[in-house]
Amino acid sequence: MGDGWSGEELRASVKAYLEIAGKVRAGQKVTKKAYYDALAEQFGRTAKSFEFRMQNISYVLSLMGRDWLPGLKPKKNVGTHMAALIESFINDIEQQPSAPVAEFEKQVREKRGRYKAPPEGQKKPEGKTVSITQYERDPAVKAWVLDSAKGHCECCGNQAPFLDSDGLPFLEVHHVRRLADGGSDTVANAVAICPNCHRGLHYAQNAKGMVEALYIKIGRLVLE
Ligand SMILES: [Zn+2]
Ligand SMILES: [Zn+2]
Repeated sequence: MGDGWSGEELRASVKAYLEIAGKVRAGQKVTKKAYYDALAEQFGRTAKSFEFRMQNISYVLSLMGRDWLPGLKPKKNVGTHMAALIESFINDIEQQPSAPVAEFEKQVREKRGRYKAPPEGQKKPEGKTVSITQYERDPAVKAWVLDSAKGHCECCGNQAPFLDSDGLPFLEVHHVRRLADGGSDTVANAVAICPNCHRGLHYAQNAKGMVEALYIKIGRLVLE
């Protein structure tokens, strides 16, 4: 494997990361350093190298449109293969497989600015079947949240960008604490927002700031 990390150490790092994240979410006190030290002891690397690896895991989570641990800012110096491996460990340990994105997105980022001529692409891209986790959602929650927004994005306040095929203002419903992160499917955790804000909440550099603003602005939201 690239830069000499074994699958075993990588898996242990992802496991520790997810465990820390679970504790932070549950409001429990957790010392990250203790986890790094234990990993360092187990695998004979410095604690610091595990901290960097944790930041790589944050980066992979950000590629997946997922939330990452505060204090572990995403670090993008992770190879394509490593990113794919981290993603597969996340899916595996959480037992909630998602469609793989990290490897593809990592490659996109590596190829930016490198082509003058347009690439050929593929006339008939091959399909493949993947298994993903879907959450049982309550249509009443989505309906209520959309209705209560009255055609305006609850994030930026702008009007919905267009009408849908039913002639209704188009907004999307987002779970502020992601379902994949254990968030609830309730109106206290869901917002109706425009597609721009929705992408921003998943992928923006300032996504965490946007979330904070939502909690302040929308009275019905309860921090999970
Ligand atoms: Zn918006
Ligand atoms: Zn969303």
